[in-house]
Amino acid sequence: MIIKPKTRGFICTTAHPEGCARQVQRQINYVKGQPSIDGPRNVLVVGASTGYGLASRIVSAFSAGANTVGVYFDKGAEGSRTATAGWYNSAAFESAAAEAGLKSYSIVGDAFSDEIKDKTIELIREELGKVDLVVYSVASPRRTHPKTGETFSSVIKPLGDVYTNKTVNFHNGDVTEATIEPATEDELRQTIAVMGGEDWQMWIDALQAAGVLAEGATTVAYSYIGPSITHAVYRDGTIGAAKNDLEATAHRLHEQLGASGGRAFVSVNKALVTQSSSAIPVVPLYISALYKVMKERGLHEGCIEQMYRLFSDRLYNGGTTPVDEKGLIRVDDWEMKPEIQEEVAKLWAALTTENVYELSDLEGYRKEFFGLFGFETDGIDYEAEANPDVAIPNLR
Ligand code: NAD
Repeated sequence: MIIKPKTRGFICTTAHPEGCARQVQRQINYVKGQPSIDGPRNVLVVGASTGYGLASRIVSAFSAGANTVGVYFDKGAEGSRTATAGWYNSAAFESAAAEAGLKSYSIVGDAFSDEIKDKTIELIREELGKVDLVVYSVASPRRTHPKTGETFSSVIKPLGDVYTNKTVNFHNGDVTEATIEPATEDELRQTIAVMGGEDWQMWIDALQAAGVLAEGATTVAYSYIGPSITHAVYRDGTIGAAKNDLEATAHRLHEQLGASGGRAFVSVNKALVTQSSSAIPVVPLYISALYKVMKERGLHEGCIEQMYRLFSDRLYNGGTTPVDEKGLIRVDDWEMKPEIQEEVAKLWAALTTENVYELSDLEGYRKEFFGLFGFETDGIDYEAEANPDVAIPNLR
């Protein structure tokens, strides 16, 4: 069939298999062009099919030569419906890993459930023995608690006061004011339950109890801080409260794993176009301004460049992992440079519908958004027939 993008707001309901494969190959080529990393041998990535999780899996395999298990929530093609982008990404990743002589396996399902944790543990035991790195990169709007059965929904809202700021419709460049009502106590509780650290803790406990976590293992999860422009809706809002919980979990896990020489970290990453970040009001416009400034200064990075720097300079640098005063790894350091933020703040104040394409990299944002689904990717003929039915080689 001929596959075209079908969008509804910040959601694209189709994905292009060859375009996704091309995007994955581009990331693989990037890391192959960098010095290899003396890093982990067997890696579990929870949330492995897109964004930071996929890039972590690619760096693990193609920079460190690791075997990988990817857990993710994606769907294969059915009838006239294409698979999701994460499905095609994972299929392409596994084919490339097999060609490189690396083991890689996929588990598709709800990472929050006991069933998927048990299935993953069984797979690790059978195929890899133990894992020495666990990357936790789940971003989800919902979670059903495995013990109580309660289903929580996360919201992106400020706490305390109504928040108003600029936002953009990245399809047509309309810059408008977004006004967001503050979250209720219950919305806050539910957001922490979805995006906080409880499930990460459950994964590590389960892996440890089953004896499939290697002595001295490392685990890392991802967070975001960002500038004051986005604080009310992000860092000081519901999602920031969940990230505080995730960061507190890292400290607990660091002690828990430290007893056998292991480590747990939260890495604060740069704001990037992913399926998750495009759903947050205000943030896409901020990212567009940020991209403009960072590209002009030759400091721009995507997920793969960020994750390569995380592994090579921070987690597996041959010495101590540098952290800030709160114990956080900061690969958002370039984004947060004062000269970058001053420039972004100036642009922010001036941004309107009339000048958005000139003052920000909204066109770059839009192109990257479609790129997440395998569209607008160089070298792909979108008028040609494509087979949507792609198998994941080692799907369990
Ligand atoms: P993403 O949407 O690209 O990836 C999310 C992954 O989670 C996908 O692989 C998806 O399949 C998986 N997933 C979702 N629900 C699942 C479930 N129930 N079971 C199993 N897998 C599930 O998101 P991302 O932007 O790469 O975010 C990953 C992490 O990085 C998040 O913690 C996010 O807060 C953080 N982060 C993102 C940014 C950013 O700008 N995008 C910046 C800093 C930190």
